[in-house]
Amino acid sequence: MKLNAKRIKRHMVRTYEFWQMNLRLLVIAEDQKKLLEDFSAKLPPSDSGYLAFSYLDRDLRIAFLGAADDENDEYEFFDTKEVVDIPASAVPNLLVRIVKLNDELAENAFIQQVQQEQANNVLAMSTLTIRALDSQRDPQLPFRLRALRIEDEARITELIELQTLRRSALEAAEEQAAAAARKDKKTKKKDRELAEETGEAATEDEAGPEEVYEDDSLLPEINIADELAKVLQELWVYDLTPANNGSWCAKLEADLSGSKFKAGDLVHVELRCVELDGEDLALVFVVPEAEVEDVKIEVSSYHATRLPWRKAYELECLTNHDFRETYYLGRNGEDSKLFNKIVADIRYGRLDPAMYLDLVQKDDVSLDFSRELYRCRHCGDLHVTRRLRLVTEESSMSEPYYCPRCGERSSQVKRVHIASLNCPKCHSPLDMKPEKVWYASDEEDDSILLED
Ligand SMILES: [Zn+2]
Ligand SMILES: [Zn+2]
Repeated sequence: MKLNAKRIKRHMVRTYEFWQMNLRLLVIAEDQKKLLEDFSAKLPPSDSGYLAFSYLDRDLRIAFLGAADDENDEYEFFDTKEVVDIPASAVPNLLVRIVKLNDELAENAFIQQVQQEQANNVLAMSTLTIRALDSQRDPQLPFRLRALRIEDEARITELIELQTLRRSALEAAEEQAAAAARKDKKTKKKDRELAEETGEAATEDEAGPEEVYEDDSLLPEINIADELAKVLQELWVYDLTPANNGSWCAKLEADLSGSKFKAGDLVHVELRCVELDGEDLALVFVVPEAEVEDVKIEVSSYHATRLPWRKAYELECLTNHDFRETYYLGRNGEDSKLFNKIVADIRYGRLDPAMYLDLVQKDDVSLDFSRELYRCRHCGDLHVTRRLRLVTEESSMSEPYYCPRCGERSSQVKRVHIASLNCPKCHSPLDMKPEKVWYASDEEDDSILLED
């Protein structure tokens, strides 16, 4: 079989972040086999390279699922029940091409099993999408997070005030120093001109040590980081998940001293965002005094002021007769069938993980949905997908859409642009029949009928 993949350059495994490699296929060329020597006894034989699957378990794993030829993109899954997988950290220098998952590849039993496991664990997966937390994660075990416990809140406020005071004093001192340096430069220039006139060599290195400007507000001389360390206890948590009322919770790696909490217990967590060198960082604080909130999800169907038109678009390539398709778009009133399917997808963890953050944390989430036409940005494939939007009072968020054929991102084709689409096969303009209205049949079979 042939991969319908976008061709990208090969990169070393270690240059990818865990979230770039989760649920991806890896094409490993034949010349890379030497890097797999340690595992060669375990790996199934292949005349070419390998088709592997990278995914996050506790750590990032690479499973060898088949043989692949990096030159012509031909691949074949191995015909074995036992799948060999190794930690990605064991082969940091391995050169791989990353390929996105599409419908055909996702039929593989091992891939389905991994997807199911991740869906079962979707709340912990959802917080892996928060990039601001990456620096707090254990690089080998991304579910494991460095956290802090505040032992003396008042002292921290005091230290922060002190730090602000010191910072403004330092800035004032720096300004003073800069002004002095400018003055100094002017004087030096004069000196040099004078020296040139008198024939003496100007001495550049006579500048001497930089002048230090003392300021009483810089005292007492304490190291803020050391002081903070005294009132903050560092610890590790894992499986951070969103919880109700905008809160978070995580499991403790070890017993929490001075509390009833034991290793493995759920504990209330707060995320605090700070900006450091222009980068957003989220710090994880364990708050054992606060109650651990529930993680239940409640949604309703969005009441739109106007429902999307349910129309059928019949498109045909009259130039080469190689394409003919009818797309049923919009929504059949309340469409409780589609709504129930979406609710089932939420329950079984099948939505995009990032969507679970709002689903759990906000209590006013409603679902806006309809069938819409999408076009792949890479291969041009046209397909109808349900468009799903989570709407809350202050925000809305759409599900990302991927091409079922090649796995790249798809974009919605606006209704007004459908008439001007080109044939996905031969690129000639398509002919569009007059639009018709459709309705969903009451039968269980999901069939769609056209109105006369
Ligand atoms: Zn595509
Ligand atoms: Zn055509």
